[in-house]
Amino acid sequence: MISGELKAALEAEFQAAVTADQPVFGGDINQAARVSLADGRAIFVKWNRSAGSDFFAAEAHGLRTLAAAGAVRVPEVYAVGKHPPFLAMEWIDTERGYASDDFAEALGRQMALLHRATAGQHGLDADNYIGSLPQSNTPSASWVAFFRDRRIGAQMDIARQRGRLPKEREALLTRLQSWLDVFLDDQGIRPSLLHGDLWSGNYMIARDGQPVVIDPAAYYGHREVDLAMTELFGGFPPRFYAAYNEVYPLKGYEQRRELYQLYPLLVHMNLFGGGYAARVDAIARHYGG
Ligand code: ADP
Repeated sequence: MISGELKAALEAEFQAAVTADQPVFGGDINQAARVSLADGRAIFVKWNRSAGSDFFAAEAHGLRTLAAAGAVRVPEVYAVGKHPPFLAMEWIDTERGYASDDFAEALGRQMALLHRATAGQHGLDADNYIGSLPQSNTPSASWVAFFRDRRIGAQMDIARQRGRLPKEREALLTRLQSWLDVFLDDQGIRPSLLHGDLWSGNYMIARDGQPVVIDPAAYYGHREVDLAMTELFGGFPPRFYAAYNEVYPLKGYEQRRELYQLYPLLVHMNLFGGGYAARVDAIARHYGG
């Protein structure tokens, strides 16, 4: 059941009575529900009492930024609220089950089209979050500087605060930071619009069989970061990569895949610790050793 406070906030926002609500499970961080309104609309609402005031505003901005590119469907944002912090959006009727080849192909093609949307600099006009951790998007003309400071360096700072950056790890990562321009062609990397957290939990299969992506941590950056994320936990279906490559061919991505997986692995290490730290160290040794 949604709280009385959230119900009142939704009724004020939508100018309609809430007639039913069903919990939706599966999120990592927030609580969620399908909410029915007296005028017949159904909305998806997620909320989190401990979220900072800008948390859902940042997600809403990411969803709208992706939507504006017109490449892949995202739920339409309806409202961002403060008391309690919530985000309300279009309810998407979904298909259960696994991604078909046609679905994987559509998602691959659409992500490639998303990546064809570019900006003048890496970053975004606002900071956001990766999971529950802050993600700085201060724009930079240099991808190497952006990835080094705003992605690796920022997570190193969080690791230090959380006691997850022993001296040896810090030395390995610092060395990797200094080597980045050997692996990355700074001038050749275009700032592509990225989903930013593209794992299998962040796409849905709509009733029409088409992909819908959710939960972005959007910014402009090297498109291979999104691809590397898809491969972090087992990978997307082969048709996804084939379709992606047809629309926007990759060159030399495999050499950088683990380097780019370092970022989500640092995030996971900072959030969950455990085995992720060993993978962080292995990658840092590989690229920085
Ligand atoms: P969290 O931010 O906590 O990770 P998600 O945004 O991943 O939460 O949402 C949790 C679950 O709710 C998703 O796994 C998905 O199944 C479902 N979901 C998310 N957005 C919608 C939507 N617009 N319509 C229907 N279901 C949704």
